[in-house]
Amino acid sequence: MIIRVLGSAAGGGFPQWNCNCLNCDSVRKSEPGFTPRTQSSIAVSSDGVSWILFNASPDILTQLKQAGGRLQPGRNVRDSGIVAVVLMDAQIDHTTGLFMLRESSRPLEIYATSQVREDLSTGNPIFKVLDFYCSVNWHEISTEKAEVLVVPKVNGLEMELIPLKSEAPPYSPNRGNSQTGDNVGVFLKDVKSNKSVFYAPGLCEIESHLVSPMKKADVLLVDGTFWTDSEMIDNGLSKKMAREMGHKPQSGPDGMIEALSEFADARKILIHINNSNPILNENSKERLELNKLNIEVAYDGLEILL
Ligand SMILES: [Zn+2]
Ligand SMILES: [Zn+2]
Repeated sequence: MIIRVLGSAAGGGFPQWNCNCLNCDSVRKSEPGFTPRTQSSIAVSSDGVSWILFNASPDILTQLKQAGGRLQPGRNVRDSGIVAVVLMDAQIDHTTGLFMLRESSRPLEIYATSQVREDLSTGNPIFKVLDFYCSVNWHEISTEKAEVLVVPKVNGLEMELIPLKSEAPPYSPNRGNSQTGDNVGVFLKDVKSNKSVFYAPGLCEIESHLVSPMKKADVLLVDGTFWTDSEMIDNGLSKKMAREMGHKPQSGPDGMIEALSEFADARKILIHINNSNPILNENSKERLELNKLNIEVAYDGLEILL
């Protein structure tokens, strides 16, 4: 399987349009050690022709351009390698790109939980708007039972969507009353190579049902949003703690670094990195700490072959 990181930043991207924090200022000035990043999304394929998109970022058009012909087999005058979209949640930075795919010559095959579908049909009715364009074929992801899904045309790739504890988006009718299915992670296995990846760009807690898939996975591609719990408050950017926003900070007790130490054999890569995070400075002490622990930081265009 080929995993291509289309975008490695959290919502807002890097730099964020209105942000003048030290990181955003530095990357805007092209200072050494800072690399721009688009908003989080990955594409996965077993043959390099048919791809599943995991989340549709507002930056998708830029990401497809940056990928050159990677996701563009060009078999017809209108064509794309993207055969399906899996939504991990209904957040703006993971779904707005669906609008950019509206020219599709066939309905968009979208895999999402019923909670995500509801949010995208009510609070932010993207599905309803798309019905005026290419329309949507919704495939329900059940979080009631463990289910192995195979996307047609993507042979030899099995996926299991796993519910994660989190919060529904601000516009969701379920905001403040979060439901199972508001947020999922995915365990993806290539049946031929028997290699697997666990992907969770929003991960607040390693709940007990996650330990087994995470232990099995050869690669952990997980939430790298914040370095500290109070990062947004300390930088005067927001009044919310990382955990309140559904993200486990990397440092400190019960942080992501500590949690990842339980999975000694896996390749560990952080993704969905917020522009406030000091690890975006390649020369920071925080980044050097990750280097020492063999924890990688995803970048746009990174490809993982499994
Ligand atoms: Zn996000
Ligand atoms: Zn910033």
